[in-house]
Amino acid sequence: MKKGKLWTRDELLLALNLYFKIPFGQFDQHNPKVINLAKLIDRTSSSVAMQLSNFASLDPYHQNRGVSGLRPPGRLAQQLWEEVQSDWEYVILESENLLETLMQPQAKAEADKNLSEIADKLPQEKQSALTEKERLVKVRLGQRFFRDSIMANYRERCCVCGMPITELLIASHIIPWKDREDLRLNPSNGLSLCALHDKAFDRGLLSIDDDYRVLVSSAIYHYFLHEAVKNGLMIYNTHPILLPDRFAPAKEFLYIHRNQYFVQ
Ligand SMILES: [Zn+2]
Repeated sequence: MKKGKLWTRDELLLALNLYFKIPFGQFDQHNPKVINLAKLIDRTSSSVAMQLSNFASLDPYHQNRGVSGLRPPGRLAQQLWEEVQSDWEYVILESENLLETLMQPQAKAEADKNLSEIADKLPQEKQSALTEKERLVKVRLGQRFFRDSIMANYRERCCVCGMPITELLIASHIIPWKDREDLRLNPSNGLSLCALHDKAFDRGLLSIDDDYRVLVSSAIYHYFLHEAVKNGLMIYNTHPILLPDRFAPAKEFLYIHRNQYFVQ
């Protein structure tokens, strides 16, 4: 594909996928991730960077900030943007699949083979083993996208305590994905949390109010004399969380968390 050629749907999908994985303000042609995608699809890094800023012009986050000077994107790019808003699962998994095929065809084949073997061992009909394999592939690709996009949005920090050690960070779901599979890949249903705060949030000992302030459950107040509990949890009560660049946690999901999971 030479410079100046129209972007195909697959190329746009890959650019959109990358758009969600790069923090705001880093969409430039010198970003190694931009250079990497440019190589993969045989385009210049400046044309990839341009496409990222085209997507930015559609993003409500940038529109709300009144960022101007962004070029309106082509019809196909606009269409993809609308598609992803209405069905994260389908568009994102399609793009992750494409990306993996381009980046590591061999690794992908092996990973799929391993999943096949797992699925084959299941005591089920052949047809359902295939479905199980497809499901496992989707889970793997989905988890990777969700983590990458949440980490980019929160700039690799726990939104409660600011912990910056990536090995200790988890891309958590506000509403657990076992309860709402449709929200599994939606970045507005995500939070970047350290291992302690992820667990506390998951167990309902921590939540977030409508003004994006931390709520600590009264269920642990009786531990108030313990330094670890005080320093690890109590001191964050009513503290504002660190908000991401894009995809702030949706208030409707936080409301559900407070009402259905939080131990008041
Ligand atoms: Zn934390």
